[in-house]
Amino acid sequence: MIELKDQYDVIIVGAGVAGLYAALNLPRDKSVLLIAKEGLRKCDSYLAQGGICMLKSPLDYESYFEDTMRAGHYENNRESVEIMIKSSPAVIVDLIRYGADFRKDENGELAFTREGAHSASRILFHDDCTGKEITKNLQKAVRKLPNVTLVPNCTMLDILEQDNECFGIVARDNKTGRLFSVYANYTIWACGGVGGLYTNSTNYRSLTGDALAISLEHNIRLAHIDYVQIHPTTLYSKKKGRRFLISESVRGEGAHLLDKNGNRFTDEVQARDVVTAAIRKQMEKDGTDHVLLDMRPLGKEQILDHFPTIYKRCLAEGYDCTEQPIPVVPAQHYFMGGVWVDSHSKTSMQRLYAAGETSCNGVHGKNRLASNSLLESLVFAQRAAWHIADEFSPLPTDRPEADYGKYADVRELFKDYKEKIITEREREAKTNE
Ligand SMILES: Cc1cc2nc3c(=O)[nH]c(=O)nc-3n(C[C@H](O)[C@H](O)[C@H](O)COP(=O)(O)OP(=O)(O)OC[C@H]3O[C@@H](n4cnc5c(N)ncnc54)[C@H](O)[C@@H]3O)c2cc1C
Repeated sequence: MIELKDQYDVIIVGAGVAGLYAALNLPRDKSVLLIAKEGLRKCDSYLAQGGICMLKSPLDYESYFEDTMRAGHYENNRESVEIMIKSSPAVIVDLIRYGADFRKDENGELAFTREGAHSASRILFHDDCTGKEITKNLQKAVRKLPNVTLVPNCTMLDILEQDNECFGIVARDNKTGRLFSVYANYTIWACGGVGGLYTNSTNYRSLTGDALAISLEHNIRLAHIDYVQIHPTTLYSKKKGRRFLISESVRGEGAHLLDKNGNRFTDEVQARDVVTAAIRKQMEKDGTDHVLLDMRPLGKEQILDHFPTIYKRCLAEGYDCTEQPIPVVPAQHYFMGGVWVDSHSKTSMQRLYAAGETSCNGVHGKNRLASNSLLESLVFAQRAAWHIADEFSPLPTDRPEADYGKYADVRELFKDYKEKIITEREREAKTNE
């Protein structure tokens, strides 16, 4: 690993869209350390298929707001929803400026697709690999920033804290096992979701909610950590590991869900939790461990044009989705809860911010509307960066030191972190019953 300084102005933990966009929105005169637990492509942002929502016209505002609220069972934070929707056009302009290429219609205007629970087409996309398109361009832009030091394969194990103020992080170089501390005036958590805690998930296995466990250790406020979204359609497989997502937009464009006898059993474009419940009920009724998804109504041409990644992956698993229905099953997909943050993405601890899937600003309520999460991650990462720039002040000189003995056995540490999160999630779920 490259030689690091003892202190940075800002440390960002996580190199998905939230971490990268925070770095791009910080002032250029601030030194930034940006770390990622694995290689830079191994984040969920790279996996996003369907697309990213945008307020395409002021006339769509009410409808977009209502769709987001309805999907979230009206538990959403209305202020956060408003901020996200109203910020979307400027963020999209920014993404295009960084090189993201979204599908255009025959007139050269941005083309919009539709997904479940949206009452209008308002989702921008790049084939079925929108996340990769956005993330790779943001990464390219961050690599050009002279003030940002980008360090993959480096894991945050803990924060340095004193009297509810964050002074930086304790980290581990994953290649050598070396433990070290880095101080920072401000720290931003952009550590993604919690799929690594589940046996069946569409997320990278390394996303284990580390910021949540560290929050529990340091009394940092959490919100709704039992609000977990199950995606109705992942490709059924008996193999271990990450589950491959069959994007919502496949159903939005007309694919049908079928029972074991080939009959439709639900409206495919309802909110995710409703479709998931319908699939589970059908599986129980049929005594099966999956249902079928028939993409043939889209036609071969549209499948190959709009969903080439899905087509190729299904083929690799032995299914030609242009010719036959494919087996699908629900799996853990997204985390609506997280580290509680205010509308500037500030946590309950001084000098500590959180953005992206690891945080909870209440945008999604109890259930996320499809294609709102890339947007939410970007909008609220930008707000964290802006707020840090506005509030910037130096760290107090009296600093805490790390007790490295606590981190000697990393495997045990993460086992303990996992147990802590699961216990807290169960406690919260029981309280809400
Ligand atoms: C298969 C799939 C499809 C999706 N499709 C869509 C879609 O079409 N539209 C949409 O809006 N959303 C979609 N999502 C959701 C969306 O991709 C994520 O919510 C979003 O990308 C989260 O971004 P992030 O920056 O918060 O986290 P990630 O992109 O997951 O990045 C997390 C980063 O944190 C790092 N990290 C974690 N813990 C540590 C630690 N302890 N120390 C150091 N680094 C750490 C990781 O290494 C990684 O770099 C999809 C998700 C999946 C899994």
